[in-house]
Amino acid sequence: MTHWNFEYWARWVRHSAQATVLLLAVTSCDDLVPQVSDPNAHLPPCVEQNCNCGDFVSQELAQLVLNEDSNDPYNLDGDGNGRACERLPQATPDLDWETYFSNSPHIALGNPSHAGQENIDNYLIDRDQYVLAYSQSHGGLRWASWVLNRDWIGSTERQNNFRPDGILPKGTYQVTPRDYTGSGYDRGHMVPSADRTATERDNSATFLMTNIFPQTAENNRGPWKELEAYCRDLIYQQGKTLYIIGGVYGQKQPIAKQRVIPPSRTWKVVVVFDDEPTVDNVNYSTDTIVVDMPNGNRLDEQWQTYQTSIDRIELATGYDLLSDIPDAIQAELEARQSKH
Ligand code: MN
Ligand code: MN
Repeated sequence: MTHWNFEYWARWVRHSAQATVLLLAVTSCDDLVPQVSDPNAHLPPCVEQNCNCGDFVSQELAQLVLNEDSNDPYNLDGDGNGRACERLPQATPDLDWETYFSNSPHIALGNPSHAGQENIDNYLIDRDQYVLAYSQSHGGLRWASWVLNRDWIGSTERQNNFRPDGILPKGTYQVTPRDYTGSGYDRGHMVPSADRTATERDNSATFLMTNIFPQTAENNRGPWKELEAYCRDLIYQQGKTLYIIGGVYGQKQPIAKQRVIPPSRTWKVVVVFDDEPTVDNVNYSTDTIVVDMPNGNRLDEQWQTYQTSIDRIELATGYDLLSDIPDAIQAELEARQSKH
């Protein structure tokens, strides 16, 4: 017994000594932590075989990609005059002035596009269940923002009541579920049905067509869904609270008599909290998950493949994400490569 005790004690000492050394190494030298670096992080996310002018919000951004490889592997410069995607707006448009102020916890960290009630292409819809920005000219949302924790999860069944959103101003075309029929796209939720199951009312709110976008089956039922499930696991298994911003950008061939423009990319930023998801509870080591994936037909099943940085999503969209977080912390979190 004495012998066993000594062995046990000696092993414990060795073990803790190693753990201490490891801890010191990790905390004193970041280089020891394996870094997954994204070699294209300075470029708008156009790294696919099927990359095209629809992936960019402006000529300026497409030009960055062309400048990187003048052989023009993506054929961005069709007429060979050295200028990429000349039909796009010259520069990334500046954000509108911020005119809408809300106490909603769903946008406590900021309003990424400064959406408000004046511009129908940047129109804020502020609900109990989520906040989103709608664009009439795209026939769909640009981004949605929502808090997810155990309070939002219950046992309500999927309501499946896809329907037009009457909240849009009078005279605005209301996208209907039938607009997607025969398009080849899924009616993809931005705020997932499974994230809002506490009440029927909450779940129904996710089936309003303003929360729906044309999503390829391979994206919707592939890595996108895997990430949604991964996020709920953080809730169920670790009791986390998530602050999620999901969005789309880029353009593919319109559907629904040109009324709906499917996006070419889908992205998501998840800020992970142990407590209330507020600006005060964010610090330099706050965990984030960031992805940007093609809304295409060939995707990797692993959502982790599509991890990137917030800076890169800001570059691609022209938005200011997490804008209410103090600048120094915001800069640190945004430059970081997501590595889950
Ligand atoms: Mn989905
Ligand atoms: Mn930002």
